[in-house]
Amino acid sequence: MKKVTTINPATEEEIATYTRLTADQALEKVAKANQTYQSWKKTSFDERAKLMSNLANIFDENKEAYAQLATQEMGKMIQQSRSEIEKCALICRYYADNIHELLADEVVKTEAKKSYVTYQPLGVILAVMPWNFPFYQVIRFAAPAVMTGNTGVLKHASNVQGCAFALEEAFKKAGFPESVFTNLNVESKDIKTIIEDKNIIAVTLTGSEPAGRSVAKIAGENLKKTVLELGGSDAYIVLEDVDLEKATDLATKGRLQNNGQTCIAAKRFIVLEEIYDDFLKLFTQKMKAAKMDEPTNEEAYYGPMARIDLRNEIHEQVEKTIQQGGKLVIGGKIPEQKGAYYPATILADLKPGMTAFDEELFGPVASVIKAKDENEAIQLANNSTFGLGSGVLTGNSKRGEKIALQLEAGNSFVNKLVASDPRLPFGGIKNSGYGRELSDYGIKEFVNTKSIWID
Ligand code: NDP
Repeated sequence: MKKVTTINPATEEEIATYTRLTADQALEKVAKANQTYQSWKKTSFDERAKLMSNLANIFDENKEAYAQLATQEMGKMIQQSRSEIEKCALICRYYADNIHELLADEVVKTEAKKSYVTYQPLGVILAVMPWNFPFYQVIRFAAPAVMTGNTGVLKHASNVQGCAFALEEAFKKAGFPESVFTNLNVESKDIKTIIEDKNIIAVTLTGSEPAGRSVAKIAGENLKKTVLELGGSDAYIVLEDVDLEKATDLATKGRLQNNGQTCIAAKRFIVLEEIYDDFLKLFTQKMKAAKMDEPTNEEAYYGPMARIDLRNEIHEQVEKTIQQGGKLVIGGKIPEQKGAYYPATILADLKPGMTAFDEELFGPVASVIKAKDENEAIQLANNSTFGLGSGVLTGNSKRGEKIALQLEAGNSFVNKLVASDPRLPFGGIKNSGYGRELSDYGIKEFVNTKSIWID
């Protein structure tokens, strides 16, 4: 029997060991999820909403325990883990409270006696999810999917299996029928067999580009719809009219929150040349002052990365960038201590073609790029294979809005760090993926948009 052991990235100590499901065992669970779907799809919006509100309450009641678990398994700062659980409750309540409006029939005037569009569930949705927001990423998919009348099966990242089982348990505690939401503790090599199974109707994945490509290819061959939320290497344009104190506060927070491991994090800072040196100086001071420590230390600013291999990978990207002519301003050295720690690092004077410009850097490393004017800044921002979340920092919000409209990304925010909100669609373009999550756009990804005509 195969097993997976979770490891605390702050201490490198083992947390727990879980027995993997074989592909056949997983398929049995998928079959059960499909059986449950046959009755779940017939429940009313109100019945589902009641259970979804219960789930929100479970998140409130277990906030501390769930937050501690996330922090232990993937190293998130404990206050941020608590906020993540609060956000899960918010999303559950959003879909419970708004389901009637979100999925209301839409009457369309035609020559028919009556014609309208109705939204029906599809079946069992497979979700392949990452470790960086181990509760939130799953709820972002599961709350709308389940409210629609679909059922969900989860293949969560191997390093957060405790969170995966806690989520399964939370659905049970909330009163959802068995198999409305199921954790499949399988290896990623078994995903192919699961996608190919007749009981899986569609797939959603949040994670890296290679994982997205692999899942989309298998799903495509089997004519199953996918939604992909992949990485980003998103740009924040910093204009010369900005308040530098505010801009560097935002930049520091944006780059270090979740220990640098957020898909929509500010990664490339494209700064106009008039203020480039001043920005870099102040940003360096603030990144240096940010305290790195154990994720349970509430006084610390950031902690370890989620796994040693991911830390080593980002260090290689930093070293490559330096070899290519990038300037290391601070950080860039693996500390001599236990844990997957990597120091706040700034790489400056970057150009297209350098690793830190072209690739996603999923850790506490900021890339700083000089632009001679606004147009060059926009062009540099759009010179990326990714397009997830980008921003403009400026003293003039009208000017910021004009630029935001020209950025090739699914989300562009002015004077605020990109963050998801259940009321707004969330997702990317280019290699950041396709499809949308959250809001009415998200809930309509996994429905049968059906035309009804009565003559
Ligand atoms: P992965 O994309 O490898 O993992 C995400 C999920 O996909 C996990 O559940 C993983 O399972 C699964 N998975 C991995 N490969 C496959 C595959 N071929 N077929 C099916 N499922 C697969 O991310 P990593 O944890 O390895 O992180 C690597 C990089 O991915 C990061 O450095 C970052 O750049 C990016 N990333 C982006 C995220 C985002 O939010 N956009 C989130 C996480 C990572 P298992 O854990 O068992 O391998």
